[in-house]
Amino acid sequence: MSRLDSFIARMQAQRDALNFLKPMVDAVPGPILEVGLGNGRTYDHLRELFPARDIYVFERKVAAHPDCIPPDDRLFLGDADRTIDEAARKLGATAALIHTDLGTGDHEANVAMGRWLGPALDRLAASGGYVLANQSLDVARWQRLPEPPGVPKDRYFLYRVR
Ligand code: SAM
Repeated sequence: MSRLDSFIARMQAQRDALNFLKPMVDAVPGPILEVGLGNGRTYDHLRELFPARDIYVFERKVAAHPDCIPPDDRLFLGDADRTIDEAARKLGATAALIHTDLGTGDHEANVAMGRWLGPALDRLAASGGYVLANQSLDVARWQRLPEPPGVPKDRYFLYRVR
């Protein structure tokens, strides 16, 4: 598989997983959290899927497409290890969906980040809600669900919050 093929497959899997979650998340009240704005592609998709929901975004440095920048009062700007704590105090455990897409190509660094990221995000997750992550996150209250149809194994990690 070329790097182009691999990129396309990853983007398709991300979109398919978000689309798969739509009806389940519709049944759960609460805001949606986008952790890692990047170019704003998945934020834009979440806005399309859930036009009536509050979508809060976590990003250390905004560099997204100008059309995909959240309003100031929906943006937690700065490092997620600090802003998740701020959000937990503001929002509590209310999120119907958390989509997290942080990390780099450095596997060891991603594993180290996962150790604090999962428990930190757990403070924001509503009971009955969902988490879609680009890395494995080990949280006792989260039950891993099978990959959505068409999404390759262990490319994205889908959890239901008990
Ligand atoms: N899903 C996004 C999209 O569709 O465009 C791509 C997200 S990109 C892979 C990851 C983003 O997370 C980057 O914009 C980076 O600045 C941000 N990020 C990485 N680590 C972070 C951290 N510890 N705190 C806050 N933001 C972080």
